[in-house]
Amino acid sequence: MRIDLHTHSTASDGTDTPAELVRNAAAAGLDVVALTDHDTTRGHAEAVAALPAGLTLVTGAELSCRVDGVSLHMLAYLFDPDEPALLAERELVRDDRVPRAQGMVAKLNGLGVPVTWEQVLRIAGDGSVGRPHVATALVELGVVPTVSDAFTPEWLADGGRAYVEKHETDPFEAIRLVKAAGGVTVFAHPGAHKRGRTVPEATIAELAAAGLDGIEVDHMDHAPDTRARLRGLAEELGLLVTGSSDYHGSRKTCVLGEYTTDPEVYGEITRRATGAFPVPGTGGA
Ligand code: AMP
Ligand code: ZN
Ligand code: FE
Ligand code: FE
Repeated sequence: MRIDLHTHSTASDGTDTPAELVRNAAAAGLDVVALTDHDTTRGHAEAVAALPAGLTLVTGAELSCRVDGVSLHMLAYLFDPDEPALLAERELVRDDRVPRAQGMVAKLNGLGVPVTWEQVLRIAGDGSVGRPHVATALVELGVVPTVSDAFTPEWLADGGRAYVEKHETDPFEAIRLVKAAGGVTVFAHPGAHKRGRTVPEATIAELAAAGLDGIEVDHMDHAPDTRARLRGLAEELGLLVTGSSDYHGSRKTCVLGEYTTDPEVYGEITRRATGAFPVPGTGGA
């Protein structure tokens, strides 16, 4: 069984539509794929409708969080998408992404970059708008060669010249909300220090004590020594260990199934979840 528990579609900052994503997941030989767009579940219906036979969809989202001034991402799986408190929090974060992206456009204009909000909106479409969309605009304008090159202190990295914060949920609150909605939480890429500051191990221990289910260990942003350290920490804290691609279509270099999750861990995630069930593909549209 090949299981990839972290992917993005055009519902946020990926480049595959949800339908394309599930078809590509089947073509990549995956048995299970999770759709985890940033702060939104809006891609799920299309993914379910297009789901090929032999592929199972795990519904989820990647929630933007912040603790002690450090931004982090919390993967949430198989929660009830209609549960009002978690729904309201997702909407709060997602809606704040709009004035925040407009703020980054204004800062870029102040730096002499002629990017417009209309351009960013065209790139984001109806997806949850984020820095990768602004970064794509910078690539279009020839300011940087690739999306990744926009994530520097000069431009859009955390604290960078054109960076603007958005509302982000306290991760302890996120764990509580996801659990109350019947879901399971996995701390995404906790050691991805290339992206900015990461939370200390003591905080991961506190999150574990607060009900965190697992941590993502096998991820492109973790070097081998980081993975070894995180694996040890997970064992110590009794946390599940996952691996996943964090696929974003053509906006990142990783491919579907680049890293995968052990079937036993996947089984444990589905056993713990009560808010939603994995959806088996029936052929798709
Ligand atoms: P936002 O949620 O709008 O703050 O944007 C964060 C997203 O930007 C992450 O989820 C990644 O998809 C993307 N990202 C962060 N760092 C990089 C990087 N170095 N290269 C490419 N994409 C990145
Ligand atoms: Zn993303
Ligand atoms: Fe992430
Ligand atoms: Fe992600």
